[in-house]
Amino acid sequence: MRVILIGPPGAGKGTQATWLKERLGVPHLSTGDMLRAAVQQGTELGRQADGYMRRGELVPDDLVIRMAVERIGQADCGNGFLLDGFPRTRAQAEALDVALQAAGTAIDVVLLIEVPDELIIDRITGRVQDPETGTIYHLRFNPPPPEVAPRVVQRKDDTEQACRARLDKYHSETAPIVPFYRDKGLLRTVDGVGSPDEVSRRLLAALG
Ligand code: ADP
Ligand code: ADP
Repeated sequence: MRVILIGPPGAGKGTQATWLKERLGVPHLSTGDMLRAAVQQGTELGRQADGYMRRGELVPDDLVIRMAVERIGQADCGNGFLLDGFPRTRAQAEALDVALQAAGTAIDVVLLIEVPDELIIDRITGRVQDPETGTIYHLRFNPPPPEVAPRVVQRKDDTEQACRARLDKYHSETAPIVPFYRDKGLLRTVDGVGSPDEVSRRLLAALG
């Protein structure tokens, strides 16, 4: 199954993807994770992406499209994938369609997780991750256990300022791709407010 997760920063895409990928039996492709790995490894792509990411701006389409299309073409994506954080612009959505068409496939479903802006800043500024397991926690809503707490790290772009910039970009660049998928009949909208378990149940129901 080829699934896209869309939602504002902090909607819970990464949190939900950890069980959803198991359930669907497909790899979880997070373009944010891929770009952070490139930055950490100091590759040419990472060097180009770093500044945009720190400021909460979008990395230019040509770079992200090349990276995502290449990843989708790898063998483990033969039975599908769970895309998280891509596409984020109209140009990316169109490029993805073209690449899938060329491969004789298409997106099956687009899951939109909706969370109002006023909840986003709290979610993002409290987000931390266990660098050993990759598990995402929240300092207040889902605190790491005592043995994990000393080693958790916060993302450089999870400041209030960068978060507001990302939220603006979400509304100006990413929200406009929602009608693109609605018109194709692929869109299923899920309320992202409530406990992570509640949101999981809604996603399952939306998947049918
Ligand atoms: P979040 O989890 O807050 O939604 P991500 O981890 O998906 O954030 O993305 C972090 C940053 O990586 C973004 O702010 C942006 O700079 C860059 N990025 C990730 N995916 C894309 C994309 N599809 N297009 C452009 N930039 C992207
Ligand atoms: P995204 O990948 O969409 O940016 P994350 O899954 O990283 O979002 O979640 C952002 C933050 O919000 C994390 O700290 C996570 O623990 C927390 N979070 C995720 N889902 C919920 C929820 N349903 N209620 C409260 N906090 C949540």
